[in-house]
Amino acid sequence: MKLQKTIGVLAFHGDVIEHINTTKNAAKNLHLDIDVIPVRTKEIIQTLDALIIPGGESTTLHKLCEREGMWEKMKHIKNIFGTCAGAIMLAKQVSHKTHDQKTLELMDIEIDRNAYGRQTESFEKNVKTSLGNIHSVFIRAPRIIRVKKEVNILANNDGEIIACEQKINDNYYLAACFHPELTSTIFHEYFIRKVYQI
Ligand code: GLN
Repeated sequence: MKLQKTIGVLAFHGDVIEHINTTKNAAKNLHLDIDVIPVRTKEIIQTLDALIIPGGESTTLHKLCEREGMWEKMKHIKNIFGTCAGAIMLAKQVSHKTHDQKTLELMDIEIDRNAYGRQTESFEKNVKTSLGNIHSVFIRAPRIIRVKKEVNILANNDGEIIACEQKINDNYYLAACFHPELTSTIFHEYFIRKVYQI
């Protein structure tokens, strides 16, 4: 039986260190001993209880995961938390994707890439979520434009969905359009509690 709790952070680019540190801090707040490790190879995937996919560039993340032969294995990870580009990776439908871009197609959401415009249109804002208030950083963020009724909405910004979750059988997925790893541990604590059902 596997005893050590282990959460991986996909570590090709984006906020890898920030996610690792925030997940470690969240585990500490919950008094849990969790190994938080960077993930760059397919062999590691089967040792994980959960994977966090950071923001970055969803087209690049897809290509790198394919190159490392991890893409198909990632579809079978039980618990995934995706932020920004990571949220795009979880979506079944994506607007404005590049012609060869693929996603893991795990959540019943439709997401619009770069929906707020260019990099210079990035912004920060305090938002109220079901988990509490959080200062949110949107960096060339996507916008969730449609969700099926099985998806639970956790946060809105001016009426637009910016965080949501879906449980499908024993699998759990959490998506945020912004970067919670930069400002708070509340999303990571919530994810950890879902993963370990505490
Ligand atoms: N614009 C990026 C994409 O399409 C996402 C930006 C981010 O992750 N901060 O993948």
